[in-house]
Amino acid sequence: MSLHTLGWNDRLQALFESHRPLGLEPARVAREERDSYRVLHAAGEIPARIAGRLRHQVSSRIDLPAVGDWVALRPSDGDGPALIEAVLPRTGVFVRKRAGDKTEAQVVAANIDVVLVMMGLDGDFNPRRIERYLAAAWDGGAAPVVVLNKADLVADPQALVAEVEDVSPGVPVVCISASTGAGLDALERWLVPGNTVALLGSSGVGKSTLANALLGEERQATHEVRADDSRGRHTTTHRELFLLPCGAVLLDTPGMRELQLWADESTLIDTFPDIEALAATCHFRDCRHDSEPACAVRAAIERGALATERFESWRKLQRELRWLAGKQDVRIRIEKAAKWRAISRSRRFHPKVRRSR
Ligand code: GDP
Ligand code: ZN
Repeated sequence: MSLHTLGWNDRLQALFESHRPLGLEPARVAREERDSYRVLHAAGEIPARIAGRLRHQVSSRIDLPAVGDWVALRPSDGDGPALIEAVLPRTGVFVRKRAGDKTEAQVVAANIDVVLVMMGLDGDFNPRRIERYLAAAWDGGAAPVVVLNKADLVADPQALVAEVEDVSPGVPVVCISASTGAGLDALERWLVPGNTVALLGSSGVGKSTLANALLGEERQATHEVRADDSRGRHTTTHRELFLLPCGAVLLDTPGMRELQLWADESTLIDTFPDIEALAATCHFRDCRHDSEPACAVRAAIERGALATERFESWRKLQRELRWLAGKQDVRIRIEKAAKWRAISRSRRFHPKVRRSR
Protein backbone atom coordinates (compact mmCIF):
# COMPACT_ATOMS: atom_id res chain seq x y z
CA MET A 1 0.00 0.00 0.00
CA SER A 2 1.40 3.39 -1.00
CA LEU A 3 1.10 6.07 1.66
CA HIS A 4 0.90 8.73 -1.06
CA THR A 5 -2.43 7.40 -2.19
CA LEU A 6 -3.65 8.00 1.37
CA GLY A 7 -2.54 11.63 1.30
CA TRP A 8 1.10 11.39 2.40
CA ASN A 9 3.02 14.45 1.16
CA ASP A 10 6.17 16.54 1.60
CA ARG A 11 4.77 18.39 4.60
CA LEU A 12 4.15 15.10 6.42
CA GLN A 13 7.48 13.75 5.28
CA ALA A 14 9.23 16.72 6.90
CA LEU A 15 7.18 16.36 10.09
CA PHE A 16 8.10 12.71 10.29
CA GLU A 17 11.87 13.14 10.01
CA SER A 18 12.47 13.23 13.77
CA HIS A 19 10.64 9.90 14.24
CA ARG A 20 12.50 7.93 11.61
CA PRO A 21 15.79 7.49 13.53
CA LEU A 22 13.76 6.00 16.41
CA GLY A 23 12.69 3.14 14.16
CA LEU A 24 9.11 4.40 13.83
CA GLU A 25 7.05 4.13 10.65
CA PRO A 26 4.26 6.35 9.31
CA ALA A 27 0.65 5.15 9.20
CA ARG A 28 -2.84 6.63 8.97
CA VAL A 29 -5.66 5.84 11.41
CA ALA A 30 -8.55 4.15 9.57
CA ARG A 31 -10.73 3.25 12.54
CA GLU A 32 -10.94 3.83 16.26
CA GLU A 33 -12.42 1.17 18.48
CA ARG A 34 -12.89 1.23 22.22
CA ASP A 35 -9.25 0.89 23.10
CA SER A 36 -7.62 -0.06 19.86
CA TYR A 37 -7.09 1.21 16.36
CA ARG A 38 -6.86 -0.05 12.81
CA VAL A 39 -4.19 1.79 10.90
CA LEU A 40 -3.18 1.82 7.24
CA HIS A 41 0.51 1.27 6.84
CA ALA A 42 2.91 0.35 4.04
CA ALA A 43 2.22 -3.30 4.92
CA GLY A 44 -1.58 -2.90 4.73
CA GLU A 45 -4.22 -2.60 7.43
CA ILE A 46 -2.97 -3.61 10.86
CA PRO A 47 -4.12 -3.35 14.50
CA ALA A 48 -2.48 -0.78 16.78
CA ARG A 49 -2.67 0.58 20.31
CA ILE A 50 -1.64 3.82 21.95
CA ALA A 51 1.81 3.54 23.55
CA GLY A 52 1.75 4.18 27.30
CA ARG A 53 4.23 6.99 26.90
CA LEU A 54 1.94 8.88 24.50
CA ARG A 55 -1.09 8.36 26.77
CA HIS A 56 0.82 9.94 29.66
CA GLN A 57 2.25 12.72 27.55
CA VAL A 58 -0.98 14.22 26.26
CA SER A 59 -2.67 16.95 28.24
CA SER A 60 -6.12 16.39 26.77
CA ARG A 61 -8.11 13.80 24.87
CA ILE A 62 -7.92 16.06 21.83
CA ASP A 63 -4.28 15.07 21.41
CA LEU A 64 -4.96 11.32 21.23
CA PRO A 65 -5.09 9.65 17.79
CA ALA A 66 -8.35 9.86 15.83
CA VAL A 67 -9.58 8.66 12.44
CA GLY A 68 -7.69 10.51 9.71
CA ASP A 69 -4.61 11.12 11.86
CA TRP A 70 -1.10 10.42 10.65
CA VAL A 71 0.85 8.66 13.36
CA ALA A 72 4.34 7.40 14.13
CA LEU A 73 4.11 3.68 14.64
CA ARG A 74 6.39 1.18 16.36
CA PRO A 75 5.84 -2.04 14.37
CA SER A 76 4.98 -5.11 16.38
CA ASP A 77 7.88 -7.52 16.86
CA GLY A 78 5.61 -10.44 17.57
CA ASP A 79 1.89 -11.20 17.65
CA GLY A 80 0.77 -8.07 19.48
CA PRO A 81 -0.51 -4.85 17.95
CA ALA A 82 1.78 -2.07 16.75
CA LEU A 83 2.22 0.90 19.10
CA ILE A 84 1.26 4.47 18.22
CA GLU A 85 4.00 6.62 19.74
CA ALA A 86 3.14 10.03 18.31
CA VAL A 87 0.45 11.90 16.39
CA LEU A 88 1.77 14.15 13.62
CA PRO A 89 0.57 17.78 13.68
CA ARG A 90 -2.85 18.07 12.06
CA THR A 91 -4.18 20.48 9.44
CA GLY A 92 -7.51 20.51 11.27
CA VAL A 93 -9.89 18.53 13.48
CA PHE A 94 -13.60 18.00 13.78
CA VAL A 95 -14.64 17.76 17.39
CA ARG A 96 -17.88 17.10 19.19
CA LYS A 97 -19.14 17.13 22.71
CA ARG A 98 -18.90 13.85 24.49
CA ALA A 99 -22.08 12.41 25.93
CA GLY A 100 -22.52 13.01 29.65
CA ASP A 101 -22.40 15.98 31.96
CA LYS A 102 -18.83 17.09 31.55
CA THR A 103 -18.35 19.05 28.40
CA GLU A 104 -15.25 17.61 26.90
CA ALA A 105 -14.25 17.68 23.28
CA GLN A 106 -13.73 14.46 21.35
CA VAL A 107 -12.04 14.39 17.99
CA VAL A 108 -14.24 12.68 15.40
CA ALA A 109 -11.98 13.26 12.38
CA ALA A 110 -8.62 14.79 11.60
CA ASN A 111 -6.90 16.15 8.48
CA ILE A 112 -9.94 16.65 6.27
CA ASP A 113 -9.22 18.75 3.17
CA VAL A 114 -12.70 19.08 1.73
CA VAL A 115 -16.13 18.73 3.30
CA LEU A 116 -19.08 18.01 1.05
CA VAL A 117 -21.94 19.75 2.86
CA MET A 118 -25.03 17.90 1.66
CA MET A 119 -28.61 19.05 1.58
CA GLY A 120 -31.62 17.58 -0.18
CA LEU A 121 -33.59 19.61 -2.70
CA ASP A 122 -36.70 17.85 -1.36
CA GLY A 123 -38.41 18.57 1.98
CA ASP A 124 -34.98 18.79 3.65
CA PHE A 125 -34.18 22.04 1.84
CA ASN A 126 -33.30 24.77 4.35
CA PRO A 127 -30.58 27.30 3.46
CA ARG A 128 -30.31 28.41 7.10
CA ARG A 129 -28.99 25.00 8.05
CA ILE A 130 -26.29 25.24 5.35
CA GLU A 131 -24.81 28.17 7.23
CA ARG A 132 -24.38 26.00 10.30
CA TYR A 133 -22.62 23.26 8.38
CA LEU A 134 -20.36 25.73 6.59
CA ALA A 135 -19.35 27.11 9.96
CA ALA A 136 -18.54 23.58 11.14
CA ALA A 137 -16.48 22.88 8.01
CA TRP A 138 -14.37 26.05 8.35
CA ASP A 139 -13.92 25.33 12.02
CA GLY A 140 -12.58 21.88 11.20
CA GLY A 141 -9.93 23.40 8.92
CA ALA A 142 -11.54 22.11 5.70
CA ALA A 143 -12.77 23.81 2.54
CA PRO A 144 -16.55 23.32 2.15
CA VAL A 145 -18.40 22.49 -1.08
CA VAL A 146 -22.20 22.59 -0.97
CA VAL A 147 -23.76 19.55 -2.61
CA LEU A 148 -27.47 19.85 -3.32
CA ASN A 149 -28.76 16.31 -3.77
CA LYS A 150 -31.94 14.73 -5.19
CA ALA A 151 -31.98 17.06 -8.20
CA ASP A 152 -34.10 14.39 -9.90
CA LEU A 153 -37.02 15.33 -7.64
CA VAL A 154 -37.33 18.95 -8.67
CA ALA A 155 -38.19 20.40 -12.08
CA ASP A 156 -36.04 23.52 -11.86
CA PRO A 157 -33.28 23.40 -9.25
CA GLN A 158 -31.68 26.67 -10.40
CA ALA A 159 -33.81 28.92 -8.18
CA LEU A 160 -32.90 26.78 -5.15
CA VAL A 161 -29.22 26.83 -6.12
CA ALA A 162 -29.35 30.63 -6.23
CA GLU A 163 -30.92 30.72 -2.77
CA VAL A 164 -28.07 28.63 -1.39
CA GLU A 165 -25.45 30.74 -3.15
CA ASP A 166 -26.85 33.79 -1.36
CA VAL A 167 -26.10 32.31 2.05
CA SER A 168 -22.72 30.81 1.10
CA PRO A 169 -20.66 33.54 -0.54
CA GLY A 170 -17.44 32.24 -2.07
CA VAL A 171 -18.35 28.58 -1.59
CA PRO A 172 -18.92 26.37 -4.64
CA VAL A 173 -22.44 24.94 -4.97
CA VAL A 174 -23.08 21.86 -7.07
CA CYS A 175 -26.31 20.10 -7.85
CA ILE A 176 -26.40 16.31 -8.15
CA SER A 177 -28.52 13.21 -7.95
CA ALA A 178 -26.64 10.60 -5.98
CA SER A 179 -29.11 7.90 -6.96
CA THR A 180 -29.12 8.52 -10.73
CA GLY A 181 -25.50 9.67 -10.87
CA ALA A 182 -26.42 12.94 -12.60
CA GLY A 183 -23.97 15.77 -11.92
CA LEU A 184 -21.42 13.60 -10.06
CA ASP A 185 -18.69 14.61 -12.53
CA ALA A 186 -18.91 18.15 -11.08
CA LEU A 187 -17.35 16.74 -7.89
CA GLU A 188 -14.25 15.45 -9.72
CA ARG A 189 -12.20 18.57 -9.16
CA TRP A 190 -12.25 17.99 -5.40
CA LEU A 191 -12.00 14.21 -5.50
CA VAL A 192 -8.36 14.25 -6.54
CA PRO A 193 -5.52 12.01 -5.29
CA GLY A 194 -4.11 13.23 -1.98
CA ASN A 195 -7.31 14.98 -0.89
CA THR A 196 -9.25 13.66 2.09
CA VAL A 197 -12.96 14.28 1.76
CA ALA A 198 -15.78 13.95 4.30
CA LEU A 199 -19.57 14.21 4.09
CA LEU A 200 -21.70 16.39 6.37
CA GLY A 201 -25.44 16.75 6.38
CA SER A 202 -28.67 15.74 8.07
CA SER A 203 -29.86 12.18 8.12
CA GLY A 204 -31.57 11.18 4.89
CA VAL A 205 -29.86 13.69 2.59
CA GLY A 206 -28.13 10.88 0.69
CA LYS A 207 -24.66 10.62 2.26
CA SER A 208 -24.59 6.82 2.06
CA THR A 209 -25.97 6.85 -1.46
CA LEU A 210 -23.26 9.29 -2.55
CA ALA A 211 -20.53 7.35 -0.71
CA ASN A 212 -21.62 4.16 -2.47
CA ALA A 213 -21.78 5.90 -5.85
CA LEU A 214 -18.24 7.21 -5.35
CA LEU A 215 -16.96 3.85 -4.16
CA GLY A 216 -18.51 2.13 -7.17
CA GLU A 217 -17.54 -1.51 -7.44
CA GLU A 218 -15.00 -1.19 -4.65
CA ARG A 219 -17.84 -0.81 -2.20
CA GLN A 220 -18.01 -4.37 -0.88
CA ALA A 221 -14.27 -4.73 -0.82
CA THR A 222 -13.78 -1.60 1.24
CA HIS A 223 -16.75 -1.82 3.55
CA GLU A 224 -15.99 -5.34 4.63
CA VAL A 225 -12.34 -5.94 5.19
CA ARG A 226 -11.09 -9.38 6.07
CA ALA A 227 -8.16 -8.93 8.38
CA ASP A 228 -6.08 -10.76 10.93
CA ASP A 229 -6.77 -9.64 14.46
CA SER A 230 -4.07 -9.45 17.09
CA ARG A 231 -4.41 -13.17 17.84
CA GLY A 232 -4.12 -14.13 14.20
CA ARG A 233 -7.80 -15.00 13.78
CA HIS A 234 -9.66 -13.89 10.67
CA THR A 235 -12.20 -11.21 11.44
CA THR A 236 -14.33 -8.87 9.41
CA THR A 237 -13.83 -5.25 10.26
CA HIS A 238 -15.53 -2.10 9.18
CA ARG A 239 -13.20 0.58 7.99
CA GLU A 240 -13.96 4.30 8.11
CA LEU A 241 -11.30 5.59 5.73
CA PHE A 242 -11.73 4.57 2.10
CA LEU A 243 -9.58 4.97 -0.95
CA LEU A 244 -11.93 5.95 -3.77
CA PRO A 245 -11.28 4.67 -7.31
CA CYS A 246 -10.68 8.30 -8.37
CA GLY A 247 -7.74 8.44 -5.93
CA ALA A 248 -9.20 10.65 -3.19
CA VAL A 249 -9.67 9.38 0.37
CA LEU A 250 -13.19 9.34 1.79
CA LEU A 251 -13.59 9.59 5.55
CA ASP A 252 -16.99 8.35 6.66
CA THR A 253 -17.49 7.84 10.40
CA PRO A 254 -20.61 7.78 12.58
CA GLY A 255 -19.12 10.61 14.67
CA MET A 256 -18.75 12.82 11.64
CA ARG A 257 -22.33 12.09 10.69
CA GLU A 258 -23.65 13.13 14.08
CA LEU A 259 -21.40 16.09 14.39
CA GLN A 260 -22.77 18.70 16.73
CA LEU A 261 -21.81 22.25 16.15
CA TRP A 262 -18.79 22.95 18.27
CA ALA A 263 -17.75 26.23 16.87
CA ASP A 264 -16.05 29.21 18.27
CA GLU A 265 -16.95 32.74 17.48
CA SER A 266 -14.45 33.12 14.67
CA THR A 267 -16.76 30.96 12.56
CA LEU A 268 -19.36 33.70 12.61
CA ILE A 269 -17.05 35.82 10.51
CA ASP A 270 -16.49 32.97 8.07
CA THR A 271 -20.19 32.30 7.66
CA PHE A 272 -21.62 35.81 7.86
CA PRO A 273 -18.91 38.10 6.48
CA ASP A 274 -21.56 40.54 5.22
CA ILE A 275 -23.22 41.02 8.64
CA GLU A 276 -19.91 41.14 10.47
CA ALA A 277 -18.77 43.89 8.09
CA LEU A 278 -21.99 45.85 8.65
CA ALA A 279 -21.82 45.44 12.44
CA ALA A 280 -18.31 46.85 12.41
CA THR A 281 -19.70 50.13 11.09
CA CYS A 282 -22.48 50.57 13.69
CA HIS A 283 -22.14 53.77 15.69
CA PHE A 284 -21.78 51.99 19.02
CA ARG A 285 -19.08 49.40 19.36
CA ASP A 286 -21.30 47.22 21.56
CA CYS A 287 -24.39 47.75 19.38
CA ARG A 288 -26.97 44.98 19.91
CA HIS A 289 -28.71 45.94 16.64
CA ASP A 290 -32.05 46.36 18.43
CA SER A 291 -33.00 50.02 18.64
CA GLU A 292 -29.65 51.76 18.98
CA PRO A 293 -29.23 54.90 16.88
CA ALA A 294 -27.07 54.73 13.74
CA CYS A 295 -27.18 50.94 13.60
CA ALA A 296 -25.78 49.84 10.22
CA VAL A 297 -27.30 46.37 10.51
CA ARG A 298 -30.89 47.58 11.03
CA ALA A 299 -30.40 50.16 8.31
CA ALA A 300 -29.37 47.40 5.87
CA ILE A 301 -32.46 45.38 6.79
CA GLU A 302 -34.71 48.42 6.29
CA ARG A 303 -33.38 49.23 2.84
CA GLY A 304 -33.68 45.56 1.87
CA ALA A 305 -29.93 44.88 1.58
CA LEU A 306 -30.02 42.25 4.33
CA ALA A 307 -32.72 39.60 4.71
CA THR A 308 -34.39 39.50 8.14
CA GLU A 309 -34.07 35.68 8.19
CA ARG A 310 -30.33 35.88 7.60
CA PHE A 311 -30.00 38.41 10.43
CA GLU A 312 -32.08 36.19 12.74
CA SER A 313 -30.03 33.16 11.83
CA TRP A 314 -26.81 35.09 12.64
CA ARG A 315 -28.26 36.09 16.01
CA LYS A 316 -29.35 32.54 16.76
CA LEU A 317 -25.89 31.17 15.98
CA GLN A 318 -24.35 33.90 18.14
CA ARG A 319 -26.59 32.99 21.07
CA GLU A 320 -25.83 29.31 20.71
CA LEU A 321 -22.11 29.90 20.50
CA ARG A 322 -22.23 31.99 23.63
CA TRP A 323 -24.16 29.30 25.43
CA LEU A 324 -21.76 26.63 24.23
CA ALA A 325 -18.77 28.77 25.15
CA GLY A 326 -20.12 29.06 28.68
CA LYS A 327 -20.44 25.30 28.94
CA GLN A 328 -17.15 24.41 27.37
CA ASP A 329 -14.10 23.55 29.32
CA VAL A 330 -12.17 26.80 29.11
CA ARG A 331 -8.82 25.15 28.62
CA ILE A 332 -9.99 23.17 25.60
CA ARG A 333 -11.59 26.24 24.13
CA ILE A 334 -8.40 28.26 24.36
CA GLU A 335 -6.21 25.43 23.12
CA LYS A 336 -8.42 24.73 20.19
CA ALA A 337 -8.86 28.33 19.18
CA ALA A 338 -5.14 28.97 19.28
CA LYS A 339 -4.29 25.82 17.37
CA TRP A 340 -6.79 26.02 14.58
CA ARG A 341 -7.67 29.63 14.00
CA ALA A 342 -4.38 30.38 12.30
CA ILE A 343 -4.64 27.24 10.20
CA SER A 344 -8.20 27.77 9.02
CA ARG A 345 -7.39 31.39 8.22
CA SER A 346 -4.35 30.60 6.11
CA ARG A 347 -6.26 27.82 4.37
CA ARG A 348 -9.15 30.11 3.63
CA PHE A 349 -6.92 32.43 1.67
CA HIS A 350 -4.76 29.72 0.14
CA PRO A 351 -7.06 26.75 -0.16
CA LYS A 352 -5.74 23.61 -1.77
CA VAL A 353 -8.71 23.66 -4.11
CA ARG A 354 -9.43 26.86 -5.93
CA ARG A 355 -12.90 28.05 -5.07
CA SER A 356 -15.27 29.28 -7.68
CA ARG A 357 -18.89 30.30 -7.97
P1 GDP B 1 -28.03 9.40 4.58
O1 GDP B 1 -28.84 9.23 5.83
O2 GDP B 1 -27.58 10.81 4.42
O3 GDP B 1 -26.91 8.43 4.47
O4 GDP B 1 -29.04 9.15 3.36
P2 GDP B 1 -29.19 7.85 2.40
O5 GDP B 1 -28.07 7.77 1.45
O6 GDP B 1 -29.46 6.68 3.26
O7 GDP B 1 -30.49 8.25 1.57
C1 GDP B 1 -31.75 8.46 2.19
C2 GDP B 1 -32.84 8.17 1.17
O8 GDP B 1 -32.78 9.11 0.10
C3 GDP B 1 -32.72 6.80 0.54
O9 GDP B 1 -34.00 6.26 0.40
C4 GDP B 1 -32.10 7.08 -0.82
O10 GDP B 1 -32.46 6.13 -1.78
C5 GDP B 1 -32.70 8.43 -1.14
N1 GDP B 1 -31.84 9.19 -2.05
C6 GDP B 1 -30.50 9.41 -1.94
N2 GDP B 1 -30.05 10.15 -2.99
C7 GDP B 1 -31.12 10.39 -3.77
C8 GDP B 1 -31.29 11.11 -5.00
O11 GDP B 1 -30.39 11.68 -5.60
N3 GDP B 1 -32.59 11.16 -5.50
C9 GDP B 1 -33.62 10.56 -4.87
N4 GDP B 1 -34.83 10.67 -5.43
N5 GDP B 1 -33.48 9.87 -3.72
C10 GDP B 1 -32.26 9.78 -3.17
ZN1 ZN C 1 -25.98 47.75 15.14
